[in-house]
Amino acid sequence: METHQTLSLIGNILGILLTIGLFLVMGTLIGTSDVLLNMSHPSPSEIQTQESKKAEVQPFIAGLAFAFIFYIVMLVLTFVIRNKTKALGIILILMGFIAMAITNFWGVIPFALLLPAGIVALRHKSTRRYKYDEREEDKGKISKDTVFCQKCEKPNSINAKFCSQCGNELQ
Ligand SMILES: [Zn+2]
Repeated sequence: METHQTLSLIGNILGILLTIGLFLVMGTLIGTSDVLLNMSHPSPSEIQTQESKKAEVQPFIAGLAFAFIFYIVMLVLTFVIRNKTKALGIILILMGFIAMAITNFWGVIPFALLLPAGIVALRHKSTRRYKYDEREEDKGKISKDTVFCQKCEKPNSINAKFCSQCGNELQ
């Protein structure tokens, strides 16, 4: 597993656990205060106060739900996008940031891992591409359909399963 994948994996799992945890806490708090209120024979105004409190936390709960989906999407994309790591880097940083913003900044914890994951992913290909362009023998062979062997760095066709030079399995 590559560095950005490891960081993203940990960050997104943290994010998923965090959103589920906060969701359960919020649900329990609302549920408990509902039960307590009902036991105390509430007046109509007390019921109204309770309802408006619930309405206040609705955006936060919706934010948690969206952030939860974001973390799952990012987790999947991290392992699906193999050749467009630059796009993946942008997605991780953007979605991680949005997830943080819509969870009242609770998402800062996963973002602390998603940001470096995104930066590593962004830099990933550009440094490798630069290296390959320098290699005279491979000039003209590199296109968007090229993948590089992780072991010997030989450019291979995107359809190849194994490296043509060293036989290493291509990702
Ligand atoms: Zn190779």
